[in-house]
Amino acid sequence: MKSTLKSIFRERAFFEPEDLICYSRDAVPCLEGIPDAAVQPKSGKELKKLIDAAQKEGWNLIPRGRGTGTFGGAVPVEGGIIVDFVRMNRIEEIHVNRHYVRVQPGCCIKKINDELAKKRLALPVVPWSSPGASIGGFVATNGVGLGSYKYGRIKQQVLDLTVITGNGDTLKLGSATEYTPGYNLCELFIGSEGTLGFITSILLSCINYQPHTVVSGFFKRFEDTLSCVADIASTNIVPHTMIYDDATTFNFVREVALGNPEAAIDTTMRNTGGYLLLAFEEVGEKEKDTLSTLFSLYGARLNVGGLSEGLWNNLSSFLPKVYQIGMISFEDTFIPVDCVYDVVVQCWEKADELSVRMFMGGYVASRRTLVLFPGMVVNERDTQEVERVKKAKDEIIKITLQHGGGISALGSDKVNYLSAYPERKKIMQQIKDIFDPYHIMNTGKLGVR
Ligand SMILES: Cc1cc2nc3c(=O)[nH]c(=O)nc-3n(C[C@H](O)[C@H](O)[C@H](O)COP(=O)(O)OP(=O)(O)OC[C@H]3O[C@@H](n4cnc5c(N)ncnc54)[C@H](O)[C@@H]3O)c2cc1C
Repeated sequence: MKSTLKSIFRERAFFEPEDLICYSRDAVPCLEGIPDAAVQPKSGKELKKLIDAAQKEGWNLIPRGRGTGTFGGAVPVEGGIIVDFVRMNRIEEIHVNRHYVRVQPGCCIKKINDELAKKRLALPVVPWSSPGASIGGFVATNGVGLGSYKYGRIKQQVLDLTVITGNGDTLKLGSATEYTPGYNLCELFIGSEGTLGFITSILLSCINYQPHTVVSGFFKRFEDTLSCVADIASTNIVPHTMIYDDATTFNFVREVALGNPEAAIDTTMRNTGGYLLLAFEEVGEKEKDTLSTLFSLYGARLNVGGLSEGLWNNLSSFLPKVYQIGMISFEDTFIPVDCVYDVVVQCWEKADELSVRMFMGGYVASRRTLVLFPGMVVNERDTQEVERVKKAKDEIIKITLQHGGGISALGSDKVNYLSAYPERKKIMQQIKDIFDPYHIMNTGKLGVR
């Protein structure tokens, strides 16, 4: 393995424990595995040589963007070779008139948006983790994020993809004009979590850049915050982004902003309040009046600019700081808009039963669905707490499914999820066998080999 990888990647092949340990995890607490090697390709040609060798030797190849996934997709739980896309990070073309940008998969999402902004363009949808995450990882997980309320998921923004499959074929899927007949093969690779092949080039649609107007409201109960979300979703008002958090999270954000990231998560606050933050590309007086009326039904006041802008800015810088207090387990759940509070209450009950420190928040993905992130603080040295958090994660998924909700990516953290859907699992395996007949691509992830 060593000599083959060195001959392909030279100084960009890594075998020493101190290098490999950096690739042993993503953002899931307590899930790790040391790879046998790691490589940093610069071109499709190198990837093809790697696939050739892997087919002969039976190596498992694990694509990795920036390792911010919350489901273990890039974690080498069964060993294998990490294929780190950090050096395939070019923005290849920005076409202003056609409103698209072509990028390599290892490009940092925030960097793409920064470059687009210089040409008065923007990506319609970005994850909360955009300063750290790669666009390849976002596409490979069919991510959802800020902007989704108005523009949908990332799959709606991908115009074409170039992929190198596990059997070594280079395929160009989709089209800049958005119209291709027949099976939608491009979408098959979006959300495939690196199990079918490597994504090597992505054409994304862009929107015109517009500074956001941010408005917010503070509610006396979290329950009211969520009811107000449902009320807004039933109007014609279309914010770019709608974020909500419970009082525990709000208090936590405030403490972090004040420079006290180690402030305890005060779970007693929970339903004592909540806030709603809406970012608009354009908002007229009529929309503001409607929002003001809806907020007032719950005794809340509409704040425009000022305080809201401050909160919006704090939220962007909040996430990296959160990790200063320890690892956080974030569960990404998708919940129907009319039963979120029921789900929240049941999750809180489980958290109390299991003595887990949980805080709630998320954003609204569409008129129908909220993304709910129950966050749990976990001290990884406390084996009992680790076990309790694992149990809580299972319970959250159960509660979500009972309410007709779903989860996003599966990685290696949630592979059991598919056991409830044997037919789906069987078809997914058949599809994988077509594109990856040697079973070398991220084997075991998504519940398929
Ligand atoms: C604080 C926080 C906030 C987050 N917010 C959001 C959010 O708002 N929305 C959201 O969707 N996610 C969110 N996430 C999860 C995560 O950041 C996203 O899934 C992100 O897009 C992953 O990008 P990455 O580069 O880190 O990918 P990785 O974690 O490295 O990889 C993710 C998956 O993609 C595969 N992959 C990566 N590159 C390629 C490639 N070139 N070809 C084929 N497969 C590839 C990997 O094998 C793996 O299965 C959040 C995570 C954290 C920690």
